[in-house]
Amino acid sequence: MSLLKQFDQKNIEAGKELHRFAGELYPICRSITGDGIRRTLSMIGDRIPLKTLEVPTGTPVFDWTVPKEWNIRDAYIKGRAGKRVVDFQKCNLHVLNYSTPIRATMPLGELKPHLHTIPQNPDWVPYRTSYYKEDWGFCLSHNQMLALKDEEYEVCIDSTLEDGHLTYGECYFPGRSDDEVLISCHACHPSLANDNLSGLTVATFLAQLLSGRDLRYSYRFLFIPGTIGAITWLARNRETAGRIRHGLVLTGIGDKGRFHYKKSRQGNAEIDRAAAHVLTHSTESPEILEFSPSGYDERQYCSPGFNLAVGCLMRSVWGNYPEYHTSADNLEFIQPLQLVESLRVCAAILDVLEHNRRYVNVNPYCEPQLGRRNLYRSTGGEAIGAEINARLWMLNFSDGKHSLLDIAERSGLPFASISDAADLLLHNHLLSLVPGDGKQGTDRGELSPENSLRRS
Ligand SMILES: [Zn+2]
Repeated sequence: MSLLKQFDQKNIEAGKELHRFAGELYPICRSITGDGIRRTLSMIGDRIPLKTLEVPTGTPVFDWTVPKEWNIRDAYIKGRAGKRVVDFQKCNLHVLNYSTPIRATMPLGELKPHLHTIPQNPDWVPYRTSYYKEDWGFCLSHNQMLALKDEEYEVCIDSTLEDGHLTYGECYFPGRSDDEVLISCHACHPSLANDNLSGLTVATFLAQLLSGRDLRYSYRFLFIPGTIGAITWLARNRETAGRIRHGLVLTGIGDKGRFHYKKSRQGNAEIDRAAAHVLTHSTESPEILEFSPSGYDERQYCSPGFNLAVGCLMRSVWGNYPEYHTSADNLEFIQPLQLVESLRVCAAILDVLEHNRRYVNVNPYCEPQLGRRNLYRSTGGEAIGAEINARLWMLNFSDGKHSLLDIAERSGLPFASISDAADLLLHNHLLSLVPGDGKQGTDRGELSPENSLRRS
């Protein structure tokens, strides 16, 4: 995993494939309900075994209610000359997401309260929503608004807001244990690349990596509308949620910013330690953030009634970069190398979860003689290398209490080298696995993006 930074040609190809997939999803006008998210799920379903579920409008989900379904065909503002001065067909951010339908002619003064701009970035179109308050509006660049003459405008939003369904997608891979790892991402933003598409694409490729493998844990991937989707899933799966042992919300992982991992509410769960360990050993200046009750769907998974061990993996933190929720969060803002590095980080975190277990040193009285087993350097006096060092750490701390992750943390060595040492020592009958501590799988290969490319 220390090789994460060394991208070879296959990694670049996997990165380009991730970016291409983001490019296919980018033009779709998604929202928390409606045909945009359905189309998105169907395109994800072309790549992984995805079950699409529909929950009717009005269904109570904890303290919330599944909203009406929103669909949109067209929207524009036309000037007196009959030309579209704001056109949904050019950019789907132009319409306030969840706008109620309107057809009217009005003077600029009456239209203005319905216009949203970003004065400090006058060329960018903001992304705004009004899910839970019926309203209509347009988003446009500040310069576009300044150019509007004081005249009559024809305003049209050809949308529907009616009883229908909330749609989400679920992909499940059974493992040797019913204990689950949850990977969750939101799929409800229209043409925004980092915020929504980066998480969606990486999660899809991660699922491809896991497909067909002999897995220790069962894996559940959720592609859901933000907030209401997580609440709806949890309300419908209270029992299942209890099986989630580890989880990650993936979002904002395609930009050039350094990695941020926001810990679960538990704060020191295995997923928190695994993510921190992988990021520290394989990425540039990562930052580990404490849990806070604002953010993405970890808010719901970590609500006190559930308190699941679910953290959130990001690069730049939402709200902290100017492109956030604007038209500048586009396909140039996310890059193939960043996407594939994020995929590698996710794969490395899952590798830790899959292989983290405890062993017992069967020769605990003084060191076993590694030399006669060809497990030590051949010439005395030379400094020992990292591989031998990892073996010594494994032998010393394999007392049935310390897990591989405990030993990796304590030694400062990457998990992969501790795990390799464990395999070798087990093979040489110097260690035994703690009974019942996560059976050894037959599939020992590490997860890597190259495999995802091969499998897709
Ligand atoms: Zn967002």
